[in-house]
Amino acid sequence: MDLNRHDFQLKELIDRIQTNDNRLIALQVPEGLKMQALEMMDEIEEETAAKVILAADPCYGACDLVHDKMKMMGVELVAHMGHSQMNIESGMPTQFIDVTYDGDPEIDAVLPLLAQHRAIAESRLGQLEEDLSEEEAKERFLDAVGRVAPLKGTKLGLVGSIQHLHLIFDFKKRFEAAGYEVEVPVGGARLTFPGQVLGCNYSGDDDEIGHYLFLGSGDFHPIGLALHTGKPLAMLDPYTGDADEMGAERIERILRQRFGMIMSIQDSQTFAILIGEKPGQMRRTLALRLKRLLTKHGKKGYLLALEHIGPELINFYPVDAFVNTACPRIAIDDAVRYSKPLVTPFELEVALGEKKWETGYQFDEIP
Ligand code: SF4
Repeated sequence: MDLNRHDFQLKELIDRIQTNDNRLIALQVPEGLKMQALEMMDEIEEETAAKVILAADPCYGACDLVHDKMKMMGVELVAHMGHSQMNIESGMPTQFIDVTYDGDPEIDAVLPLLAQHRAIAESRLGQLEEDLSEEEAKERFLDAVGRVAPLKGTKLGLVGSIQHLHLIFDFKKRFEAAGYEVEVPVGGARLTFPGQVLGCNYSGDDDEIGHYLFLGSGDFHPIGLALHTGKPLAMLDPYTGDADEMGAERIERILRQRFGMIMSIQDSQTFAILIGEKPGQMRRTLALRLKRLLTKHGKKGYLLALEHIGPELINFYPVDAFVNTACPRIAIDDAVRYSKPLVTPFELEVALGEKKWETGYQFDEIP
């Protein structure tokens, strides 16, 4: 990652600290930017009368706002960098600081993939005949994760990770000029910007969108987007200019692994239900519902609340399996690190016979 090409927009923060005459603030930065944190602390301390405490625990999203512990230290304002505001209340005044990247890749590399993906969407759209039997409809409308999901359009859904969203409407024009009908989806309250996606939320999806382009790097967001929507997905990386796609084999491999997890808990009797303590990951009601569901099926569920979740913190509990209600990506991306099966709420419900795998995989979204 070329950090010199990132813009850390500290000016608004410095203005706010000066206006409020804050004396102690906390700075929270994502993992990829921690190396720059000391430089930013220097800049804030030079420009204002405030002292800065770095909230140095791991931080992977705005779900993870520092809260009461900082209040106890006397912190007056939290400066949270690189993520946008969510529909959560941390109990602390918080200033969100944008980080943007100026990489502006050519679109040519991704056009052949988009043409293939639009053809897939068109083939699904062309099958909206009314006289199909239920079985025929099911077969034709199945998406990449096995759901029956008829489409109403073949638009290109244009999404990105937050540091590239300032370019999204420029890219919309470029793809329109290349012959695509483009939608920049607007999601629910957990998302701030048009085109934004999170690893746990793809709520802007709609049935007018037939395929996607993700502007960003890595496969964290693309895996979630493909699991959530079941639609073809191309990726364009602003850091390298490379184009790629989230292939069906990759999604199939993940689904096979998830199905294996479900099979492996069929006979489990005792479960630890993990509750995330981070403000934007806490799903207490869901955890309690799962505990009741386990009781209904004659099984035992223990509720475990944790700020951070890792194998070293839970592997030793004498239970048969874990159910995760914290960050949904812990089960999807990290399950192999745990000594016992680690499943999502949907997967537990399938194992208990409350939901059906045959009607398609349901991504664990936090709304
Ligand atoms: S994917 Fe996980 S870490 Fe990222 S915002 Fe969602 S809950 Fe937080």
